[in-house]
Amino acid sequence: MKPPEPLGANPIADELEKQLHYPLGDTLPAPGSAVTVAPGVKWLRMGLPFALNHINLWLLRDEIDGRPGWSVVDCCISSEPAKAQWEQVFEHELDGLPILRVLVTHMHPDHIGLAHWLCERWQARLWISATDHGMARIGSQGPNGFSSEAAANFFALHGLTDPASLEKIRGRGSYFSTLVPAVPRQYRRLQDGDVLSIGTRDWRCISGYGHAPEHIALYCDELQVLIGGDMMLPRISTNVSVYDQEPESNPLKQFLESIDKFRGLPAQTLTLPAHGKPFTGLHARIGQLHDHHAERLLEVMQACLETPRSAAELLPLLFKRALDLHQTTFAMGESIAHLHALWFEGRLQRRLGDDGVYRFGASAGV
Ligand SMILES: [Zn+2]
Repeated sequence: MKPPEPLGANPIADELEKQLHYPLGDTLPAPGSAVTVAPGVKWLRMGLPFALNHINLWLLRDEIDGRPGWSVVDCCISSEPAKAQWEQVFEHELDGLPILRVLVTHMHPDHIGLAHWLCERWQARLWISATDHGMARIGSQGPNGFSSEAAANFFALHGLTDPASLEKIRGRGSYFSTLVPAVPRQYRRLQDGDVLSIGTRDWRCISGYGHAPEHIALYCDELQVLIGGDMMLPRISTNVSVYDQEPESNPLKQFLESIDKFRGLPAQTLTLPAHGKPFTGLHARIGQLHDHHAERLLEVMQACLETPRSAAELLPLLFKRALDLHQTTFAMGESIAHLHALWFEGRLQRRLGDDGVYRFGASAGV
């Protein structure tokens, strides 16, 4: 998941979007129905109860062990409205055929939430990276998995000290497992470079880091179609966060290195993103994302050279709008990610203050 777009006008995003092309125009699949975007590839769009209000899922015409059917890519969160949308898809979009496998790009709830339900209902196998399978299994264990207490303590260490906010974060309990109550025990492992035979076509797995532990995008050279998941979005920038489970990670470096792997794909590639509309202009979009983060890093660097700052103290600089609590937790993760990128490069130094908060400032000699 990623922070939602700001409400209202966003002139910068509008301008950058002009470098991209949306071959389907304003076409959107109606709830419970699909739009064909390439031979054997159907686009589904399901509602989400967040500010980020939808996710795109994909149906790929398939045949496994001589049985015709469909592979699905990504699942939506576990909720009754999501199941109801799937029921309509089963009825109207599968040509009477079964779902044969469930491919999941990564462990985030909007992508893996209903995998257990789809796999059980269709007796289909889950295909996912081993890393994301393991993390999702841990998260689905409830309070013994991801800990809201640990998250609150981590944010406090990075300067989010407002007691009311911390209390709310602690009070969220096991947020992940409410959206992902179960994950199939068995799975088939996806790794970078694997080639999957889906129907009559080959799709290559491209791993990506920095957004999820081991995100897998899928590319079909015959169709020149990339199922980009959350690693390649047309308008909003992918959430790149440091989390309490891995408090010294450097996800921004991982993310930028990962999207560079898409530069080797043809310029005319049609990218199918998890949020937003299918687009061409992949190479321009990679450049835009590099520029976006370079600007942010420069702003952070300048602010920290002025005076050492915590991640929380940088929020007004990085996010020039009011944030609700949900958005604040994403924003904190992003702010720490930018600080860590500079810290790992040796351009900033980290100090633990007497108040128990990490601040980042000039390195000795800068
Ligand atoms: Zn995600």
